[in-house]
Amino acid sequence: MTSTLLAETSVDAAPAISSEPAKPSLVGLTRAQLAEALAAIGVPAREHRMRVGQLWHWIYFHGVSSFDAMLNVSKTMRAQLAEHYSLTRPQVVAEQISVDGTRKWLIRMNPVDARDKGAEIECVYIPESDRGTLCVSSQVGCTLTCTFCHTGTQRLVRNLTTQEIVQQLVVARDMLGDFPGQTPPTDGLIPSGEGVRAVSNIVFMGMGEPLYNFDQVTDAIGVLTDGEGLSLSKRRITVSTSGVVPQIGPLGDASGTMLAISLHATNDELRNTLVPLNKKYPIRDLMAACRAYPGASNARRITFEYVMLKGVNDSPAEARELVRLLKGVPAKINLIPFNPWPGTAYECSDWETIERFSDIVFNAGYASPVRTPRGRDILAACGQLKSETEKLRARARLALDDEDEQAALSATEAPSQQPLS
Ligand code: SAH
Ligand code: SF4
Repeated sequence: MTSTLLAETSVDAAPAISSEPAKPSLVGLTRAQLAEALAAIGVPAREHRMRVGQLWHWIYFHGVSSFDAMLNVSKTMRAQLAEHYSLTRPQVVAEQISVDGTRKWLIRMNPVDARDKGAEIECVYIPESDRGTLCVSSQVGCTLTCTFCHTGTQRLVRNLTTQEIVQQLVVARDMLGDFPGQTPPTDGLIPSGEGVRAVSNIVFMGMGEPLYNFDQVTDAIGVLTDGEGLSLSKRRITVSTSGVVPQIGPLGDASGTMLAISLHATNDELRNTLVPLNKKYPIRDLMAACRAYPGASNARRITFEYVMLKGVNDSPAEARELVRLLKGVPAKINLIPFNPWPGTAYECSDWETIERFSDIVFNAGYASPVRTPRGRDILAACGQLKSETEKLRARARLALDDEDEQAALSATEAPSQQPLS
């Protein structure tokens, strides 16, 4: 697709210099965390349930950003909350809008401590005729080193908190004017002339390996799907993993979401090089975990992602092998045209090769398998998130003292590729 960038807005307002530390935000917290926040300011335990219910409704259903808007909360309570807490969202420092309606936001997370300048992540909104999909990140960077993925080249890594994961949707709803009383944007609409489509689906396909940040991701899914707040359907949330086998079953049990597997190769030898985690959890074990995934059925299929790399994994024999491998698994296949990034040795397969591959898969009963590249003009596609890597690294060096930097770097270079704690 050839397309041009429609708009690029820097919404970077320099934060006011203040000697007062920022008040912690309540936006993005779980019910249990909200109760803790109330306990910390002396609200009696017998009131927690009721107060949490009120906060929940105002924060997640109405999306308010001021305690004063919480009309059924007493003035005294509102003042007490405002004295200690805020309803701040992380800052959107830049917005890029593609001609196809895709929007990419560079989001600066609220600093976690006095030295932290605030990690930056990207979040992408993709409107389609029947849905609005938000691609969210689960980590800053990734400890894994899939050779075709740009995120894997980033050295600074940390887990996002539950709050930071949830805040990505809150920010998206703000930007799309989707909370009651807000005004949707009038620019960057999809060519069909429809208005802005609300976020209906979430895919954990941004930066990071969600199953290496299991607790925070599953807690965040709990907030996102809570029927009294953000109310997304579990069946419209997809967690994509490069194959952290021991966490696949627990994900189904804890969250009931849809599962996507980044397969990309049909034999261990090749997968070991593309997705090095395969050395630890080979294809056989991965497929066994998929067969056992709680809730998988023909109505709730597992998505297998397969990035098309020229001359590497795109032969007709591999297409047939893919079909053989997935036999007996309720599966969907997504063929992803490789998105090149500066410095990569890989190329995207030719269109005819992708078509040939796709025909074989189609004839075996898998429909529409090629994922259309979206937002290419704004580098919003998979593997290209956080194109500001170098800037981030420079900032990270300033922000971290030597000891912390060493810890952050060694976490990304750990040979065992363990999850971050
Ligand atoms: N870590 C998780 C989720 C984030 S990556 C995972 O690996 O599944 C989301 C998807 O984008 C994965 O399928 C990943 O393999 C794919 N991807 C990464 N880099 C890509 C690139 N340059 N081109 C196309 N797809 C890419
Ligand atoms: Fe990490 Fe996924 Fe990229 Fe692999 S493909 S490096 S697991 S983000």
